[in-house]
Amino acid sequence: MENLLASTVDISGLDRLLDLIKSEGYNIIGPVVEDGAVKKGTIKSINDLPQGYTDSQAPGSYTLTYDENNKELFSWAVGPTSFKDYFFPPKQVLFSGKISKDKVTLVQVDAKVSKTCFFGMRPCEVAGMSVLKNVMMGGQYQDPVAADMSQNVLVVATECGFPAETCFCSSFGSGPMASENFDLVITEITNGDNRYLIRSGSDTGYQLLEKLDLQSASPQDFSERDRIIANSTSQMTRSIDTGTVGGLLAENINSPHWAEIAKRCLSCGNCTLVCPTCFCASFEHSNGLSDDFEVTKRWDSCFDTEHSYIHGGYVRSSTSSKYRQWMTHKLSTWVDQFGEMGCVGCGRCITWCPVGIDITEEVKYIAEKSVK
Ligand code: SF4
Ligand code: SF4
Repeated sequence: MENLLASTVDISGLDRLLDLIKSEGYNIIGPVVEDGAVKKGTIKSINDLPQGYTDSQAPGSYTLTYDENNKELFSWAVGPTSFKDYFFPPKQVLFSGKISKDKVTLVQVDAKVSKTCFFGMRPCEVAGMSVLKNVMMGGQYQDPVAADMSQNVLVVATECGFPAETCFCSSFGSGPMASENFDLVITEITNGDNRYLIRSGSDTGYQLLEKLDLQSASPQDFSERDRIIANSTSQMTRSIDTGTVGGLLAENINSPHWAEIAKRCLSCGNCTLVCPTCFCASFEHSNGLSDDFEVTKRWDSCFDTEHSYIHGGYVRSSTSSKYRQWMTHKLSTWVDQFGEMGCVGCGRCITWCPVGIDITEEVKYIAEKSVK
């Protein structure tokens, strides 16, 4: 790879990198501790990162703990929010308008975004953004926010040395290592000290590293990185066979297991809201007391009955049909629609499902009861 430059820095070197990114005019968005979870927020310096925090995740369960002796910055897995919020905002005013006596004036609201650095993106999040980009920008019409963000984003990924119990990115090839779609990638190497292997993945990343004039990475740093990736991969106990799951679900549209899932599923839509690739949206027209009005796009969910309303009826009103729609789209029909899977194995839908429904387990049950 021509644009590969690799350096190793200590924690102050990482702070210098953040300063450089800011001096290049980027707002930095990255992992911060908020509401008892690792979420996304503004990063001004190393002090804003979740140093010393570790999460524990299981189906329907998330706990964040702090240990003052833990000096690691990245010893946690993905939390409830993703970078989707910036690429596809939960609520966005598209048009504002005014009704007067003889005409309606409609003005498109400027969707411009400023230069933004997504810092500390786990590889599954980088993969999720790529999937979403394909949805928002791969067709004839481009979403203006996603298109603008794509032009203005600097991606600084962080390889994963701390997968959660609910993660299964290794079966999708979307983690724990980062292999594409980033400008820089960091691997936290901790052998009693905080060292960070930083590699470039684009010309922009190369130029940033060059400006910092850092110490080159050693072969030992790369060996340590390989050990961390192998260790993370071995910790992932969940998996989905991506080679067979599409056909399996297509053949089992009438599986009795959909009704079994529906006995537990609350149709709450949490799984779709935390998912970094779900893109259902609805459009609302709202009036105030005056003659002004707005057209707003907001996140919706295939678990919302209203979302399936077409021509005087609901296409999906039962919970079993909603869950089936969600899961078969993620793992089967998304491939027909967009040429790739709609899941990156981040595990959020498992952790944040209030009743602990686990997409990997449900695939196994459907296989066990399969008609073929
Ligand atoms: S379906 Fe679940 S595991 Fe897959 S990307 Fe969405 S939240 Fe992550
Ligand atoms: S699978 Fe879980 S998170 Fe998704 S709608 Fe059902 S209860 Fe809610």
